[in-house]
Amino acid sequence: MPYPTSPLVACPQCDALQLEPALVPGGCADCVRCGAELYRHKPGSIDRSLAFLLAAAILFAFANLYPLMEMDARGLRSSTTLWGTVSALAEQGEPGVGVLVFVTALALPVVELAAMIYMLLPLRLGIVPAGLRYAFRLVERVRVFGMAEVLLLGALIAFVKLHDIATVHPGIALYALAAFVFLLAAADAWYEPRAVWHCARELST
Ligand SMILES: [Zn+2]
Repeated sequence: MPYPTSPLVACPQCDALQLEPALVPGGCADCVRCGAELYRHKPGSIDRSLAFLLAAAILFAFANLYPLMEMDARGLRSSTTLWGTVSALAEQGEPGVGVLVFVTALALPVVELAAMIYMLLPLRLGIVPAGLRYAFRLVERVRVFGMAEVLLLGALIAFVKLHDIATVHPGIALYALAAFVFLLAAADAWYEPRAVWHCARELST
């Protein structure tokens, strides 16, 4: 697969095209024209990002399989899951909010996780995955819209508020969701798009 071999980089702020300098580990390259950060050298970017992603995928499964919280009110015990909160919103006359929560808190994080693992796992194993550029573009578009942390915040607020009227127990999914949010943020922090192309270029030559 032909990947560009020219060591050029475009500034994300002002579009200035400039030579890509080699960086020391942990170093950062700034635009010669506007000073914006072009990219940063993150040692072991693919390895670390992939490790956080795989852990996040396992915790996301836990967050969906187990109850988010359980509530005791006057002898009645009830529990809800992540999916239960989405369907409850739809049933209670808020289908728009239900769809919004489903897309931003469930669907997009899954797409982001799947696309990133699809890119990074084969690269880690020495294979350039088919359709790498499509997966790359998908990740770039989806990353900004995933908002599982907003759902976590909402669940924590509900947990505190419900304490006044009933006995509320946090479920396994609440802990899993909290860990998932931090792991996804860590994967995102270690992810360096240029490392993907460098690795693909080295494997395809
Ligand atoms: Zn610039």
